[in-house]
Amino acid sequence: MSQPLIRLDGLTKTYQTGELATTVLHGVSLDIDEGEFVAIMGTSGSGKSTLMHLLGCLDKPTTGRYCFAGEDIAELDRDALASLRRRTFGFIFQSYHLIPSATAMENVEVPAIYAGLSRNVRHARAEQLLTDLGLGDRLGNRPSQLSGGQQQRVSVARALMNDARVILADEPTGALDSQSGKDVLALLSELHQRGKTVVVITHDREVASHADRLIEIRDGRIVHDSGKPERPLSGSDAATGFAADDIKTERRAALADTGEAVRMALRALQANLFRTVLTLLGIVIGVASVVVMLAVGNGARQEVLDRISSLGTNLLLVRPGAPNTRRSVDGQTNTLMPADAELAAQLDNVMSAVPEMNGRATLRAGNNDYQTQITATSPELPAARDWGVASGVFLNAEDNQRYAAVAVLGHTVAENLFGDSANPLGEYVLINNVPFQVIGIMAEKGAAPWGSDQDDVVFVPLNTGSLRLIGQRHLNSITVMIDDLSQAELTQEAVRQVILQSHGGVEDFQIRNMASLLDNIAETQNTFTMLLGSIAAISLLVGGIGVMNIMLVNVTERTREIGIRMATGARTRHILQQFIVEALVVSAIGGVLGVLVGLGFAAALQALGTAIQFTPGPVLLAFGCAFATGLIFGYMPAHKAAHLDPVVALSAD
Ligand code: ADP
Ligand code: MG
Repeated sequence: MSQPLIRLDGLTKTYQTGELATTVLHGVSLDIDEGEFVAIMGTSGSGKSTLMHLLGCLDKPTTGRYCFAGEDIAELDRDALASLRRRTFGFIFQSYHLIPSATAMENVEVPAIYAGLSRNVRHARAEQLLTDLGLGDRLGNRPSQLSGGQQQRVSVARALMNDARVILADEPTGALDSQSGKDVLALLSELHQRGKTVVVITHDREVASHADRLIEIRDGRIVHDSGKPERPLSGSDAATGFAADDIKTERRAALADTGEAVRMALRALQANLFRTVLTLLGIVIGVASVVVMLAVGNGARQEVLDRISSLGTNLLLVRPGAPNTRRSVDGQTNTLMPADAELAAQLDNVMSAVPEMNGRATLRAGNNDYQTQITATSPELPAARDWGVASGVFLNAEDNQRYAAVAVLGHTVAENLFGDSANPLGEYVLINNVPFQVIGIMAEKGAAPWGSDQDDVVFVPLNTGSLRLIGQRHLNSITVMIDDLSQAELTQEAVRQVILQSHGGVEDFQIRNMASLLDNIAETQNTFTMLLGSIAAISLLVGGIGVMNIMLVNVTERTREIGIRMATGARTRHILQQFIVEALVVSAIGGVLGVLVGLGFAAALQALGTAIQFTPGPVLLAFGCAFATGLIFGYMPAHKAAHLDPVVALSAD
């Protein structure tokens, strides 16, 4: 004897709502053979829909056994059940349960998507089915543009899409006018003629009379069964395995799936354009600010580094005062002497050693008084500082030996004393009431990296300055210029040794190396850039939370759609993928727009004079972050959607 297609054995179903447990089915036992046309009748609330959900594997019984084609469905997991639904059952619901945002064609195609049918085959089949059902001219209409009878026919076509063996119809005519109702019933009879097993659930005796077999149910118990008629179609032995899913087709379909998922995502996002735009805005702002902040931060860093490098990286700076003390800054220590500079200048790999002695003085030319810094130094200063005269000449060795009263003015000083127009060369200025002749004007140098005006200075010969203006013998610094930079460390040590020796072994001076100073500053600037970047990252995070929010709303709003997809065979993975892809599509679009906006904004800032550095790093980083945000924040809602119970999802409103 071949086994029945469906065998229910003592099924019960108890709904648990909070503390309250309602038992709806009390031990239903029933066999249905392949090819039967069965009507299950009962009054409203008698448990018919509950029974249909169990029959269609949308729900599991509380107790009892359900064997389909000999296999106990209690042993199947979520995905195996999804697979069984997809290959075996076609559902027709009283309220049609079509996806509102999809066209008639797309609705019919849904089960085939999850079956991994190729696009062309799917289209052709959906079109054929709809045309057969008289909807050939309504393929592109959305459910809201169709009458009830037409919608129900779409759902019949959907039920047939995967060539279901069993059609489960729950009050299929309940919402239809009598003519449409008759049409649908005729359709069901025809399906039965073609060998399908049809189970129709109804409270209407007239509807039930179309079936070959009538089962009445009251308060969750079968009270009457008209019994099987003569065994209908012969030969179709039901016992074919189904649990071993067609894995290979699924794999092949996975890639096409992704394309399909992106299309579905775009459609879903389009359906809620305003909300999508708002979410996009969050991501765009986040990504754009990351791009802009990092471009500004890197630009600022590069600017500072450039300015410092312009001072020369081949310099050692010798200052008085023991290492790691700051006393030298106020000039209190008088340990560094001009002789030290001379000693250093003798060393290998040293191009020059420029002594500097600083003081302040008041200058007077005509009626103009001006206070500025006096730097007494040697003729090598222009070379060491990479800073020439704009006009006239710089100090020379002879000026120093002669204690000549000559001065070279910085640009700012010249401007303040003589104005723009007059030529100060050859004129005399009084420095602390001593007349000095102006022999040169320095080229304009601009602000130092630390902000002070480097042009606000007067250079005089070392000896003259020491004796007549500053009144000290010790130096404020020696700048040592190195020839071969690769030997910088060695040379620095040599300078240290030679000065140490002349100071009788007391290390009362310190040497700093511009290259390492540069490193320090670069590091500080990196920290600054990181800070900017993190602020921007926070806004990206906020954008991500926006994505999560919209996806959660999406899931809640489209719970019924999820239920429909599950009923037609979508597996957990399909639903998960669909919602993650939606989140990713939003983030990716937002990411691209954000990068464009950010680059545009940075370019505008650059046009306005802000230092900007464009590097691919931040752009990729920002886009990557947006994508990751979509993935991370999209996962939770997607997970929520994918693990809904099919019945619960279907009955959502
Ligand atoms: P029918 O389809 O025959 O009208 P149903 O199977 O839909 O009846 O419902 C049978 C009974 O089970 C009703 O009393 C209904 O209130 C109850 N019921 C149905 N679904 C649930 C549920 N998810 N939670 C709690 N009670 C439910
Ligand atoms: Mg019902």
